[in-house]
Amino acid sequence: MLYDLIILGGGAAGIFAAINAKLTYPTANVLLLEKNALLLTKVRISGGGRCNVTYACFEPKQLIKNYPRGEKELLGPFHIFGPSDTIKWFESKGAFLKIEADGRVFPQTDQSETIIQALLQEAHRLAVIIKLTEHIKTIEYNESYFTLHTKKDQTYQTTNLLLAAGSSPQGYKWAEQLGHTIQRPIPSLFTFNSPTSSLKDLSGVSVNPVRLQILGTKLFQEGPILITHFGFSGPAILKLSAWGSKYLHEQNYQTQLMINWITLSKEIAFAKLQKAKALYPLKKLLQENLFDLPKNLWKTFLEILGISHKSRLTEIPLQHLKKLAQKLTEDCYQIEGKTTNKQEFVTCGGITLKEVDFKTMQSKICPRLFFAGEILDVDGITGGFNFQNAWTTGYIAGKSPLLNPLHRKIFRK
Ligand SMILES: Cc1cc2nc3c(=O)[nH]c(=O)nc-3n(C[C@H](O)[C@H](O)[C@H](O)COP(=O)(O)OP(=O)(O)OC[C@H]3O[C@@H](n4cnc5c(N)ncnc54)[C@H](O)[C@@H]3O)c2cc1C
Repeated sequence: MLYDLIILGGGAAGIFAAINAKLTYPTANVLLLEKNALLLTKVRISGGGRCNVTYACFEPKQLIKNYPRGEKELLGPFHIFGPSDTIKWFESKGAFLKIEADGRVFPQTDQSETIIQALLQEAHRLAVIIKLTEHIKTIEYNESYFTLHTKKDQTYQTTNLLLAAGSSPQGYKWAEQLGHTIQRPIPSLFTFNSPTSSLKDLSGVSVNPVRLQILGTKLFQEGPILITHFGFSGPAILKLSAWGSKYLHEQNYQTQLMINWITLSKEIAFAKLQKAKALYPLKKLLQENLFDLPKNLWKTFLEILGISHKSRLTEIPLQHLKKLAQKLTEDCYQIEGKTTNKQEFVTCGGITLKEVDFKTMQSKICPRLFFAGEILDVDGITGGFNFQNAWTTGYIAGKSPLLNPLHRKIFRK
């Protein structure tokens, strides 16, 4: 049997593409092949089991700023299917969502199962043919159709093929065989290890906002940081890891991180300390927590600089205050390695974007080959942006006019 569309990969992008293909072209025969015994395995574990479905940013120009790779290419697609469409779609299937204070969107049940059920029920209702434990071994292309061979010696043929294999190395290999260039896959969204950090005993302390910079680069971020027993974590660190993923990989994750704990300049910090000394000479610096830092962090900074807790401001030489201003604004830590974030991690790299037409998600190199989801060289920061990429590109691929079974007749002539 010759299928109209075979989708390789039963993750968020593959399932959403299958649903949209069947909704648009009900008579098309659409087959989805998944190597695992279960579909949507990443959706299940995503967001700590709660599934951060999308992010409540409804302006495409703003939304794309959250994608270190894919920013330019996703602008058009987000006008076609963006976060408000995602929310409407899931709610129309009875999966009600909530927007958290920071903009992340989760199911009201706080269970990823809600999202899985909405997708699977719709796929079944539309009679998408799904075959599990079908591990594709090879793909051949003869300009009229694709032939797929599975590990169980099954053969499938299709006029259109959608690769939605996520970050699986095999997906990249097939794309390469079909003429595509692959941007080297490397991790994004990780936390920083700093075994020599003097702050490790303060594990659990967070500061918001701080300004971070990778020394010697233009890579910086502002936002909340979390001190951990192995180094540093928190949204600002994860964002920095995403924007700096290529540079950090080249440096083998050995670099210098500079933290400005108060987001003020060194000069302003010093001026504030001098003013406090003049206004309250008899007060103790420990109690005079001028910058509203967590008390134990403030205390640790004074200890590191050898400023006694008992010292009154008048007794502290200006030189020490200068050093304190520097510590608060230019505090450097040696980064040695990374730890992958268990809540959400993603691969940077994949199919080179200029080789894909984002109006249809069709390859510009191999006709009737489509891509959706993480297989593309697209990745977002943490917050639901990666699933939004999967929903958007899956939607567009599924709606492609080329999937119209009417084309099949023209194509097969
Ligand atoms: C722990 C974790 C938590 C996450 N949490 C979030 C979150 O809360 N919000 C968010 O936006 N993003 C999150 N992400 C990222 C998000 O899960 C991915 O961006 C998204 O799942 C990508 O979807 P996809 O369909 O492109 O790929 P995948 O979900 O990886 O699906 C690809 C599918 O292809 C199948 N496949 C691969 N090779 C073959 C083959 N040879 N034959 C047959 N099938 C094959 C795989 O088995 C898989 O099912 C998280 C990621 C992880 C790892």
